Amino acid sequence: MPPADPSRLKFESQSVSAAFIEPSGNIAERIIQIRTNPITRRTCRISLSRIDEKEPGTESLPGPPPDADKTAQCPFCRPQVSSRTPRLHPDLSSDGRLTRGESLLFPNLFPYGSYSAVSLFDNIHFVEIGKASTKSYADSFINCSGYLARIKKRSPDTVYMAITQNHLPSAGGSLLHPHLQINADRLPANHQRILLKRANDFYQQNGSYLFSEYLEHEISAGDRYIGATGLWQWMAAFAPEGFFEIWGILPQKTSFQQVTAPDWKDLARGILKVQRFYRSLCRNGYNLGLLSVETPASRLELRIVIMVRSNYAAWVRSDHTGFEVILGDMTTFSAPEQTAEQARPFFSS
Ligand SMILES: [Zn+2]
Repeated sequence: MPPADPSRLKFESQSVSAAFIEPSGNIAERIIQIRTNPITRRTCRISLSRIDEKEPGTESLPGPPPDADKTAQCPFCRPQVSSRTPRLHPDLSSDGRLTRGESLLFPNLFPYGSYSAVSLFDNIHFVEIGKASTKSYADSFINCSGYLARIKKRSPDTVYMAITQNHLPSAGGSLLHPHLQINADRLPANHQRILLKRANDFYQQNGSYLFSEYLEHEISAGDRYIGATGLWQWMAAFAPEGFFEIWGILPQKTSFQQVTAPDWKDLARGILKVQRFYRSLCRNGYNLGLLSVETPASRLELRIVIMVRSNYAAWVRSDHTGFEVILGDMTTFSAPEQTAEQARPFFSS
């Protein structure tokens, strides 16, 4: 057999064990998997012995947050949204805001970059996980894409772009009202810089796209593959850096401007299926996001990442402990293969 090509993707998993005497007096051995992300080569840990542990706050789906009906105080609710939120620079929009269906897009009052904006889904102030409409999600994404197209035209060196969502304060959301966040800059964020280099180097060495090859491996392996919505292909992350982390890959599309309206709708359908899976686990918070580098030379394909965050409920512990913050290895409790098995039924209908 020819030696394995060291430049191709490697799905590496190693194990370490911890031995101790249980309080009962029995000798115990616990296995911890250490997996290496084939894309970034970062390691993560899966502490399988905690799989049966019930996280506090996940016994049932937590009820609505205390401000779920306080629409009068919300700056994103109508009619006050038009007076309490900022407007876009006239170079980007003569109207100051962009609309698509019920979605409204305007700048972030507290920006994180040169172009930092918020895209509302609609005028519904609180939406439980998995309960948004496909249309509202798709329209909000299309609104983001239109905004990013204007930036590309106005500021060609602003190539580092991202669309993200923080659902509920436990996921970093500061306002309850559902919205996507958009960021575009001429300087990359860490993940944009690292992923672009990896995708372009991979293409140069192998003549193929990095995420397409990852996807091909996962379809062939089968145990983490979940399903498809249109062209989007969904799978549990091999080396998760978040709980129940799921990826959706859009093969060989490297720019938001290559994504058609039906593609955005298919993405929204997939996201909602993942959310309904999370809801079945009695989880109410999540992060999701897509990033792109909008240059003709970029070989970085579009991939959405979705992960559960600690529930937004009283006295729930954070999912980021000293281990993640200080050592840099995310520790989760369930095998990605099990995540895929649990998520698949939500994609079969
Ligand atoms: Zn609101």
